Amino acid sequence: MQKITIDAGLSCPNRNGTISTGGCIYCNARGSGSGAHAKGLSVTDQIIQGKRALSKRYKAKKFIAYFQSFSNTYGPFDRLKNLYEQALAIENVVGLSIGTRPDCVNEPILKLLQGYADNYLVWIEYGLQSANDSTLAFINRGHDVTCFKKAVHATRSSKRKKSPPA
Ligand code: SF4
Repeated sequence: MQKITIDAGLSCPNRNGTISTGGCIYCNARGSGSGAHAKGLSVTDQIIQGKRALSKRYKAKKFIAYFQSFSNTYGPFDRLKNLYEQALAIENVVGLSIGTRPDCVNEPILKLLQGYADNYLVWIEYGLQSANDSTLAFINRGHDVTCFKKAVHATRSSKRKKSPPA
């Protein structure tokens, strides 16, 4: 199994002016991603290309769609849903890995992702970078450690409890 990195053309509040325009000090203008969206490649195109390359190189048979560039839970709900489901509709894509910021999740998105977890592998990566607030301020991260803890707590709480066997 291999991860296919995806640039879905999303944005980030730490670059679009909502929090700041400069972003984290290590970020680049492509949101630390491949720039594939700017080249006109849809999520479907990127996965098809990635499958072809990784099947050839590693003989991979299953794939995880890795939404890497920018903040991949930041955007209108319907747009995000459409992007995730484009990925899950492709044969042998067995899961989603979603890179995002801890200040970019909310209950509807967590519920949506929880729903996918019934049938797919679902990972959410919250970039913390440091557990020290002064380091986070120095790197212009735009959120603090408490924000990260709240996001992790909300994510754990959104996990549906399975009914005990009858
Ligand atoms: S959160 Fe990610 S995309 Fe946003 S500014 Fe920082 S590194 Fe760049």
